Formats: sequence, structure tokens, C-alpha cells
Amino acid sequence: MTTTLQATKMRGYFDVPGTEIRLPYTDVQGVAPGPTLLVTGGVHGGEYPGIESAIRFARDLDPNRVKGRVLVIHLSNPPAFFAKRQYVSPLDEKNLNRVFPGDPDGSPTERVAAVIMEALAQADFWVDLHGGDIHEALVPFTIYSDRGGKEVVRQAEAMARAYGIEHILESSSIAGGSYAAAAEQGIPAILAESGQVGQLDEEAVRVHLSGLQRLMVHLGLWEGEVGSRVAEPIMRRFAWVTSPKSGFFYRVIRPGDHVIAGQVGAVIHDAFGDPIAEIPVPQDGVVLFTVTSLAINAGDPLFAVAAP
Ligand SMILES: [Zn+2]
Repeated sequence: MTTTLQATKMRGYFDVPGTEIRLPYTDVQGVAPGPTLLVTGGVHGGEYPGIESAIRFARDLDPNRVKGRVLVIHLSNPPAFFAKRQYVSPLDEKNLNRVFPGDPDGSPTERVAAVIMEALAQADFWVDLHGGDIHEALVPFTIYSDRGGKEVVRQAEAMARAYGIEHILESSSIAGGSYAAAAEQGIPAILAESGQVGQLDEEAVRVHLSGLQRLMVHLGLWEGEVGSRVAEPIMRRFAWVTSPKSGFFYRVIRPGDHVIAGQVGAVIHDAFGDPIAEIPVPQDGVVLFTVTSLAINAGDPLFAVAAP
């Protein structure tokens, strides 16, 4: 006997208590029982392809085709989005993807994180849609946490391989990221990066929409074929390089470049055009992202290199 449910599609806003922030969501209940998938866009307000993909995916999702439930938060950080801010919210200068699991009594960004974690508590899986921020160039990649135990890690890796982006990283970071907070709760999660430099790029949107469709099939929420899963080795060694000085940033390497340890990755000049720092590539690997702003502050991220 097959259980048939009343398929529904609800739209609404999650109010963030103690703030004026409202997170737009679509909640799709399918025709048959199944897992619940949480999808979030716009944790970083300037990463437009992820936001656009969340909006289109939710708008076009047919509940009569779904087995299980899909909860989509289209825009997770409205203050940063409308302020056109890179990395942080204008309300407290905090990076939402560094404060998970958040705090219901904390600053506005910490409260947003706590509301997203409440939504996550209803879910079995999470995909968090990102891209290069306003001054970041990147090649698409997917990242998941090495935390949460063997089975959670295995499922997160399988989600990343199904999503279809060639470069996959397993991270041991616990620095408040969405996927690590989920893993700590025993929920397999991936963070997918596609898009860059503050552009609403259609090809980058296509990468996310294709990944979401493949993930729906992989998780049993849709009938169909996933297609070819990524077979590349998982990258577990990566170096995130920050600037030693403030000044004018010139990159030598580009996202997607295969580089070797010791080669020059970037140079920093002073305001007179003289070099004040040369930034070496710390390890062999592929360049995942570089920043693109001419302005750079000491401590700012510059580029990342990853390898198996
Ligand atoms: Zn991001």
C-alpha cells in the first residue's frame, strides 16, 4: 500500500525574533513520505547565483513530483543583501557563515543563524548555496565537514559527488560554518560554491540548479537518474592565504590554475607602485578562489589552494 499525502506548497517568512529581519521561504510537502531537504541561499548577501537558484528552484518545484519535504530559504541574510555587503551584515559586522549555530539571544546575525538552525532541526539533509562574493573570483567547488561521525561524513560526501561539481573538499574547520554546524547535529550537509565577483551569471545559476536536481534524485525526493557522479579524489589539504599587509593587491594566479609550492601567488604594492610584499603559494594544488579587489587590508583573505 502506498501512502498518499496532500501535496502542498506554502510560502511565508521566518521572523527573526528581536529584529526586523524576515527570511522568505517556500515549504513543499510532497505526495508521499520521504526525507526533508533544507536548501538555503544568500547566507552571504552578494553571492547572487545561489540566491537566484534558491528562488527559481522553489518557484518551479512541483509538489506532486516530490516524495518527502523540501524547505527552501531563498534569502538567508537580507540585511547584507540589501546593503550590498561582502561577507558581513551591516547590523553587527558579523559573517553569518562564521557564527553557526548562532544564538537566539545574540546579535542580529547570531539570531538569524539560530532561526536557520531551527529550520534545520526539521530536516534530514542541508544544501547551502554560495558563490564567490562581490570581490572574489572562483572555480565552482563543493565542501562538507569531516565531523559528525563516519555515517554523516559518508552521506555528505555522497551528496557532494551527486551534486556534480568536479572539485570537492572535506573540511576539518569548526569556525562557525553552516555545514560543520549541521554535521555536529548529525545532519549531512554540503556547501556548494558557484558564481563570482558580484555577478548574476546564468551559467553559475545553471550549475546550482543542475546540482539541486541531481541531489533531489540522489536523496530519493524525485524519481530519475542522478547522472554521472563526481569520481575525482576528495581534496583534504587546503591552504587559505591571508594578506600580511594593507595595500594594493595584484594577483598572479587565477582560479582553476594548477600551481606549485613556492611560486608567486600575488604581490602587494604601496600607493607609489612599489612592491611591499610577495605572497608565495604555500602548497601544490588547484587555485579555488582569489580576491579581486585592488584594495586589501592586513588579514584579508587573498586566495586558496587545495589538493587531495
Ligand atoms: Zn559564501
